[in-house]
Parts: sequence; C-alpha cells; structure tokens
Amino acid sequence: MAHAQVATSTGVQRSFSLTVDGESVGAAQALDVINPATGEIFAQCPAAGRAELDRAVAAARRACAGWSASSFEDRTQCIKRMAAVLRANQDMLAELLTREQGKPVGQARDEIGRAAGQSEGLTQIRIAAEIITDDAERRIELRYVPLGVAGIITPWNAPINLAAGPLTSALYTGNTVVLKPSPYTPLSTLKIGELIRDVFPRGVVNVLAGGDALGQWMTEHPGIDKISFTGSVATGKKVMASAAGTLKRVTLELGGNDAAIVLDDVDPKSVAPKLFFAGFVNSGQVCMAIKRIYAHEKIYDALCAALVEEARKWPVGDGMNPATRLGPIQNRMQYDRVVGILEDTKRAGGRFLAGGDVPKSAGYFVNPTLVADLDDKSRLVCEEQFGPIVPILKFTDVEDALRRANDTRYGLSGSVWSRDPERAAAIAARLEVGTAWVNQHRTTAANVPFGGAKESGIGRVYSELGLKEYMEPRVISVLKTPA
Ligand code: NAD
Repeated sequence: MAHAQVATSTGVQRSFSLTVDGESVGAAQALDVINPATGEIFAQCPAAGRAELDRAVAAARRACAGWSASSFEDRTQCIKRMAAVLRANQDMLAELLTREQGKPVGQARDEIGRAAGQSEGLTQIRIAAEIITDDAERRIELRYVPLGVAGIITPWNAPINLAAGPLTSALYTGNTVVLKPSPYTPLSTLKIGELIRDVFPRGVVNVLAGGDALGQWMTEHPGIDKISFTGSVATGKKVMASAAGTLKRVTLELGGNDAAIVLDDVDPKSVAPKLFFAGFVNSGQVCMAIKRIYAHEKIYDALCAALVEEARKWPVGDGMNPATRLGPIQNRMQYDRVVGILEDTKRAGGRFLAGGDVPKSAGYFVNPTLVADLDDKSRLVCEEQFGPIVPILKFTDVEDALRRANDTRYGLSGSVWSRDPERAAAIAARLEVGTAWVNQHRTTAANVPFGGAKESGIGRVYSELGLKEYMEPRVISVLKTPA
C-alpha cells in the first residue's frame, strides 16, 4: 500500500484562543494537539476550566433575551454570514483540520463546504405556530419557543461538520450556545469561534476547548438548558445520567454498526466502489460508515474480488499529500483499539482479502482491510470498529441477513442494495435503524431527519424535527369569555 510522504506546511495557524462573550480568552491550562500522521505535538491551545465555563454560560444567559427575541430572518442573515466566513476561510481551515484530524485535505475542504451548505439549508426550514382550536369560545395555539442556552459537545471524527448542524440548529431557533470540541481536535472549532466573533451579537456563541471533564461540567451546569452530544454510546449514557440532575433536554447522536445487505441480483463491479467508499472514507471513522457487509452467496466471491480491486485505489498516508485517499486513525487510543480488533480478527480465523498489516510509522496508519468468512460473534462484527476494517459476511436467505443485521444494540442506519429498488426498499424498511437507505449509504440533507434507533441515540438532527429539539412547545389557551 502506498504510503504518502509528509507534505510541507503551507503556513498553518498556531495561535488559538477560547471565545467567551465575544472576546478572546486564554486559560491557565493548555491542551497539546497531536498530528496523527506524525504522532507529534504540533500545536497547543487553552484548556478551559470551571471558571471559563462559568463565564461562558453567564455570557450565553445574558445574550438569551436579545437573541431569542430576534426574528428568524435576522438569525438567518447571521447564519448566512457564518457560512460565508467558512467558505472564505476554507483552505486555511481545511489544512488545520487535516493536521489535527488526519483526513485528506480535499475531504477536509468538502467537510467545510458541507458544514456551510447544511447551515444554509437549515435556515430554509420554517417553524410556525399551530392553531389547534379557534372558534367562538376559545383559541388554542401551540408555539415553539427557544430553550435558552444549548451546550454542544462534539467528537473528533468530523469536528466541523458535527459542530455546524447543532450550532446552526440552536442559533436559528433562538438559543445561545456554549460549544466544546473534542480534546483531540479542538483547533478548527476554536478558529471558527474566532472567525465568527463579529458575526453574532456578544455572548451568543461561546467556544471552549477542554478535556472530557469540561464536557461533564457542561452536562451538570444549572445554567445550561440543553445538551447536544455527538460521540460514543458509552459517553452518551453518562451524558444522559448527568443531565438528569437538572432535567436538561438531550439530543444524543451516538455510534453505529451499520449493515449493508447486498442482494443476489447486483452487479458486484458497479456496487463495490460505492460500498467501499461508504465503509472506508475517513478511514472508517464515520458514525454511519458501513461496518458490516452481508453479501448473498451467489455474488459473494465476485463482490469480494471487486472490493479488493477497489482497495488498491485508496493510498494511505499523510492527509496533506494530494495523493492520499485514506489518512491515519485520529488518535493513539483509537489506533490501539483498531489494532486490537485486527489481532482478534486474526485469532478468530478471518480470511484477510486485503490489508491486515499495520505500516511501521510514528503516525497512526492502518491499511484498508477486508475480511471474509468471519464468525458473527467476533469483535469485528459485534463492535463498532471505527476504523478501516470491514467484514464481508455471506448469507443465503434474506430473512437470515435481516435477522443478523438487526442482531445488535446499535440502530443508526443501514442499507440494502439491489437491481430492484422496490424489492430492496421492502427489506430496508425492516432494518431497526433511524435511516434505511437503498442503493446508497451515508446520504444526508438539511431537510431530512438523521439520528439513531436503539442505543445509537435519542432525538434527531436536521429537518423540522431536529430544529424542534432546541425548542419547548408552549400552549397558549385563550378562553374568549371576558373575565
Ligand atoms: P467520545 O464519546 O469519547 O467523546 C465525544 C465528546 O464527549 C468529546 O468532546 C469528549 O471530550 C466529550 N466527553 C467525554 N466524556 C464526557 C462526559 N463524561 N460528559 C460529557 N462529555 C464528555 O466520542 P469520540 O471517541 O470523540 O467519537 C467517536 C464516537 O462518536 C463514535 O462512537 C461515533 O460513532 C460517534 N459519532 C456519532 C455520530 C452521530 O451522528 N450519530 C457522529 C459522529 C460520531
């Protein structure tokens, strides 16, 4: 597997600050940020403590009255300006994202473009009051009002895109925000906080970097009304337990173990590139990546061969090298976990069709790995691998494939692939997931709700449903008889 060279810096930013009440703020502690392509610290940023959190929450609370009273139109204008700022700084942010996260720089650019586009898309959605009754005697109206201060906690796999959805949703619906990125990838989010300081009124958007403890303090904080959390199932459970102390509203976007069921009538050569992309892009570190492929026995060998062929087209290396299509695993802990799953897969007797080896490097690289003939009970099948290793499992009867696909506590998304989309849709509708795709995987849009069934989450992002997660329904019931 090609291993791309480390590229020369084009002048990445090295100075970062927290954003509190519209101002640049430092902190007593610092976070080291590692470039996963080299394993070396390449930057530092301030790490907020309780004092900075209290200041940020107080600023967000002060800003609530003015911001929640502004119109959707005014808020749309601010969000459009934010999207324009993202696009104007796309190259700088993309390089920063690649250096801290690892993904190829072209994909980092796409992530920023997507964040801008989804933000604009959300502002196309209208939230209107509903008249339940209006007759001679009474008028009953249902309005949606902002919750107050939203705490947004994000993971390291797509820090900009996964911040943009909740950030825009909270702001558009009239809430103010305290945003905390992962300690592994704080820089691009901090930089966005700096870039949009003048776009929103003071205190409306506060951005704090910090460790996991900062996330926990946010979930406990009495001044925060809502937590939007994107991350692992294990942490999501802690967030929900902790938020219960103040009965905060929660949206939990958690992990997945998505199955793709490939029926007997497909052309393996035509579906293989699409399946590979959905399984391996961002080195498999995507909540809705394909993590298990169930292929019908009739096309099993041909599909395996076509996927191996595809794997050859995805060079692994430093994301700053334009030839790279797969970057490193984002951090050491996740790298060790993926290597552990790789070793377990070898012990479990999986047949390695591609990859299986780990390049010698200070960076956290794993070659794209395809595994055949693996037992359903193995770690690679049961757990969320969140790395570039995908099992291809054989089935004979589609009922059996469905049962195996659904035999998991995860329920994020899944897909069915066939020459006959209607036949596939009938099967897809029986996947126990938040999103079931046919002949595609990983397609999302601002007007389509996304989120997990079962332990993959609570609530939805995007669409009117997702926006209403940041609003309280309020009934105004008027008895028209004068008092
Ligand atoms: P993680 O749960 O370890 O961390 C996520 C965030 O939570 C980080 O900012 C972290 O600092 C913070 N945190 C840690 N402990 C906390 C606590 N006790 N209270 C509050 N916050 C705390 O997740 P990760 O490893 O960064 O991300 C990978 C996971 O995220 C995968 O499971 C992936 O599937 C999932 N994910 C889900 C979606 C989705 O939309 N469903 C999207 C992307 C990633």
